[in-house]
Amino acid sequence: MATLLRRAPPPPVFFQFSSFSTSIIQPKFKPSSMQCNSVVDEIPRTGENSSWKPMCLYYTQGKCSKMDDSLHINKFCHSCSIDRISELKNLRPQEFDYFLVLDLEGKVEILEFPVLLFHAKTMTVVDVFHRFVRPTKMSEKRINEYIEGKYGAFGVDRVWHDTAIEFQEVIEQFESWLRKERNGGGRLWTGEGDGSLNGAAFVTCGNWDLKTKVPQQCEVSRMKLPPYFMEWINLKDIYLNFYNRRAPGMLSMMRELRIRALGSHHLGIDDSKNIARVLQHLLADGALLQITAKRGSSSPDAVRFLFQNRIK
Ligand SMILES: [Zn+2]
Repeated sequence: MATLLRRAPPPPVFFQFSSFSTSIIQPKFKPSSMQCNSVVDEIPRTGENSSWKPMCLYYTQGKCSKMDDSLHINKFCHSCSIDRISELKNLRPQEFDYFLVLDLEGKVEILEFPVLLFHAKTMTVVDVFHRFVRPTKMSEKRINEYIEGKYGAFGVDRVWHDTAIEFQEVIEQFESWLRKERNGGGRLWTGEGDGSLNGAAFVTCGNWDLKTKVPQQCEVSRMKLPPYFMEWINLKDIYLNFYNRRAPGMLSMMRELRIRALGSHHLGIDDSKNIARVLQHLLADGALLQITAKRGSSSPDAVRFLFQNRIK
């Protein structure tokens, strides 16, 4: 039987802030947390930050069987929620009720598929879908090397091997998760009509995940591209158009917004939580989250970018 304890993880990586560089372009809307002078004072002293624990990566996949073991519960985090922020006076109505924050890992084939369900009204993460993904076209030897190199560095290669399933199965389980009844009625997806999501949109950091990687993996796994991957919101483009500042990556957005990045960078579930923190700040500052990229319905390979001003 697989042990549920992750190998002793390396100490948590708390990203250090470099000094704040002032752009020549002044933001139209100043990020709310940019107003103090001291970097240290700007890091929110919240319960989440001060009591940070690594995620139980069995729990995130619905597979933790140690929920009544207090040692295990004390050692690992069993919630995907993020701290609420109190400054909400700039909030505006959104086109979407939910955002699906997605941040894939794996350059050759997808290795991790984490999705956080962010509720626009309550401004927090209300559900998670997380799976480790076993490559379909890679030798066992190559998989072992690949996983040791990538997840071994975080001390989570064991849980990867214990839980990873092939992409096709991940997508089947993801669709069951999307079909779940939420708040006594709504489903994020029913598969009816054109197969798009109901009141929800994917949010990614960049276009790579949905423009490039998912279609590539579908080809490798000999699957049709699911219809809900036809459009998405690239947070970098929202950030650029809202603050009128270029931030080329998740860490630079976090640095500029004075949000402390938590967890291990390039562990997909931790990166997704950090992207959800950026999303939360954008919403709190008053940004409107709109679709930034769409595939053509007759030629899915052609992606149209809807914002003129965007990160290329
Ligand atoms: Zn657990």
